[in-house]
Amino acid sequence: MTGLGRIPEKHRFDLIVIGGGISGACMVHEATLYGLNAILLEAGDFGHANSSNSLRILHGGIRYLSRLQLRACRQSCAEQAWFARRFPRYTRSVRCLYPIENSLGDYLAARALKGVYRVSTWGLTRGGTETTEMDSRRANYHRAYREMTGTDAANFVDWEEVVMMSPARILIQLLKQSCLLGNACVNYTQVDRLDHRDGRIRGVYAHDVEHGTEYHFEAPFVVNCGAARIPGCEVVQSRLPRSPQSLAVNLVLRKPVLEDVILVGRGRQAGDNTILLTPRNGHLVAGTFHFATEHSDRSSQPSSNQLIECVQQLNRIFPQAEFERDNIVGVESGALPVSRRGERIPRLPDQIHTQMTRDGKSGLITVRNMKYTTAHRLARKTLHRIAPQATRRRDPGPVEYENFDWSAYHPNRVIPRQRLAETLKTLCRQEAVRQLSDLTLRRTEWGREASFRRQDLVEVADLTGLSFCGESLSAAGAVMGSLSEATTVAASGESPIQTS
Ligand SMILES: Cc1cc2nc3c(=O)[nH]c(=O)nc-3n(C[C@H](O)[C@H](O)[C@H](O)COP(=O)(O)OP(=O)(O)OC[C@H]3O[C@@H](n4cnc5c(N)ncnc54)[C@H](O)[C@@H]3O)c2cc1C
Repeated sequence: MTGLGRIPEKHRFDLIVIGGGISGACMVHEATLYGLNAILLEAGDFGHANSSNSLRILHGGIRYLSRLQLRACRQSCAEQAWFARRFPRYTRSVRCLYPIENSLGDYLAARALKGVYRVSTWGLTRGGTETTEMDSRRANYHRAYREMTGTDAANFVDWEEVVMMSPARILIQLLKQSCLLGNACVNYTQVDRLDHRDGRIRGVYAHDVEHGTEYHFEAPFVVNCGAARIPGCEVVQSRLPRSPQSLAVNLVLRKPVLEDVILVGRGRQAGDNTILLTPRNGHLVAGTFHFATEHSDRSSQPSSNQLIECVQQLNRIFPQAEFERDNIVGVESGALPVSRRGERIPRLPDQIHTQMTRDGKSGLITVRNMKYTTAHRLARKTLHRIAPQATRRRDPGPVEYENFDWSAYHPNRVIPRQRLAETLKTLCRQEAVRQLSDLTLRRTEWGREASFRRQDLVEVADLTGLSFCGESLSAAGAVMGSLSEATTVAASGESPIQTS
């Protein structure tokens, strides 16, 4: 059994949380603040699934206005501010631009919507910092838009969103703090089934995915944040309001980035998505594309045809940009529950499903989270149900831990292999990761940079015995059949790794 913090010897708890994504991380963190003795069980690396694949936008609520969900808008704004306040090092404000092409009606409607946004979030601290740079840069935005679309934007409606520089670090911070305050977060331990007797939850049966050792964890409450088909959870899952599953896809593209703004592009034909072009470490990330799917498997990958469809959609929206399949250097994807077009997003209490029996609550709760900005609030509401009498202690704030200085290992530096391998092994132990690629995501942006030298990591992986999956990169390569090593490996310079 591996994990962050202490590995528990006794297997009896107040609460078991299944799943180490952002929902589980917020849940165990809240449980810790409520003074519960909790354990989080994750089948892989913490945050390896959907939580690492997001477009990284902490939505401030403006997206809910098209459905006139003012309450959801207000809550989202407050949650965005919570993330920005709590993780100032890992979040930043980015200006969003929504182009108005020619209709005065559209422009007035967009301005009116912005006015409604201001009113519905009145009195709240916003996560984004308002800047006054828009006017001085307006000409640049007009030019960039013309270059990408071949048409002129009559105007732009702009607002601030908050983006996460590293979702993985945010998540790990929450887990680490929970561990520092006495709880346990264990990974590579998969929950197989529930222990459910006499109409009540007694715990879960799990196994170590590497060694196969079986465990029985006992607790009167289990919160399932894994959306997994765990035997025993079906009863609850069949009670969830049926919402369609969507395969959500982001493309990481090697294209000139926009000047630190997020450009919103409206779909041009029925079935197209509204696409956001966001800058990230020298790349352009386009998302989120949605495809209807029957699967709820979070590791789902888009097919080759679906990737081609994404590129075609992009070219319909930004025809002059001439996106090509070969521009794709990474794919981020996962299956998500989504609300139907025009349908209202479920209220938060409806996203928490408590299995009821004749005797009252059975102790099994399934949480179906849709956004980062709902995870923390969902956790608070769930914990309030589990421990209504408990007093919640004050959140002591972020635990900072030293970041590994990856710059020393950057291309063109000569590093003794053995030293690098030892350092990485220690880091992986500290972080409880087995995938070198997950470690690089967590402690650096190295893997996402333009000068990323994939072969270096592969070599180090061999040396350390750690696996390197480079999922997003290799997935793109596999389905496109066109991603050569040359596109991911820096063009110049010898390997910085040297045999000692
Ligand atoms: C392409 C894409 C773009 C997105 N963009 C955004 C965005 O810009 N902003 C935003 O707010 N949201 C975005 N989202 C949505 C957001 O990423 C998800 O809502 C969020 O990550 C859900 O977190 P989670 O913890 O519920 O699920 P996950 O992160 O998927 O975590 C579930 C965890 O449960 C574990 N698990 C499953 N079964 C078991 C088991 N039996 N035992 C132990 N562990 C188990 C899994 O290993 C996994 O780690 C995006 C999603 C995708 C796919």
